[in-house]
Amino acid sequence: MSKGKLTELIRRREILMGLAAGTMLPFIAGCAENAALGRSQLMLVSDSQLAQLSAQAWRESLQRERVSRDPAYTRRLDRVGQRIVNASGQTHLDWEFVVFDSDTVNAWVLPTGKVGFYKGILDLMETDDHVATVMGHEIGHIAGRHSAERASQQMAAQIGMSLVSTALTSNADIAYSDQLGAALGMGVSLGIILPYSRQHEFEADRLGVDYMVAAGYDPRQAIDFWIAMSTTHQGGQLEFASTHPSDEHRIEAMRAHMAARGYV
Ligand SMILES: [Zn+2]
Repeated sequence: MSKGKLTELIRRREILMGLAAGTMLPFIAGCAENAALGRSQLMLVSDSQLAQLSAQAWRESLQRERVSRDPAYTRRLDRVGQRIVNASGQTHLDWEFVVFDSDTVNAWVLPTGKVGFYKGILDLMETDDHVATVMGHEIGHIAGRHSAERASQQMAAQIGMSLVSTALTSNADIAYSDQLGAALGMGVSLGIILPYSRQHEFEADRLGVDYMVAAGYDPRQAIDFWIAMSTTHQGGQLEFASTHPSDEHRIEAMRAHMAARGYV
């Protein structure tokens, strides 16, 4: 190795270390306490970034899917949605509930309060309590700020990696917007739902049951519904079934939570 090359490597290493030290600041500044969860979260994503990306994903979903106007479906989703939203306290968002005319067995909620349920999943829901089960779970992800937390964790990892490649290749032209969009779970705009972590699923399950009870629904029907879904679910299609905790563990944890709260 020539002396010039060694000097260059040392210089880049110094840049890298300097940048790494500089990046610690937003990480420390980016922690927020979440009252719904009772724990603090890494928050590197601003509410306006989140809102912008959510709005984009919503527009794209409305273009890609066929929106149903069938009142048998839309009234049912609205009715349950409003009750769960009120019970969750997330009334500051501009909620909108849309039924997609498709056999797909799925449902999702964007951080701005835009809710999409497919006819395919509504057809499997025999009671409003079943609709409330999935609505509660999805709004649990919103109250838990899970999308923003996941994005922040992925950004932290990506910023670290990008700094390494910036310093080593001297190519500073790295854009974060695509990575951020993907990390936010805006996979809905691509027709996929990115999985949440195991912890997020358990938290959404617990909050969902709490919201069901507060809204006057029967939480035991959540257990019935999850058991029914676990025997029929379609290989990773569902946001709430595509995740790491096995169905058995989630049902067990929900039962324990309901017993601890005195719901049953
Ligand atoms: Zn989920």
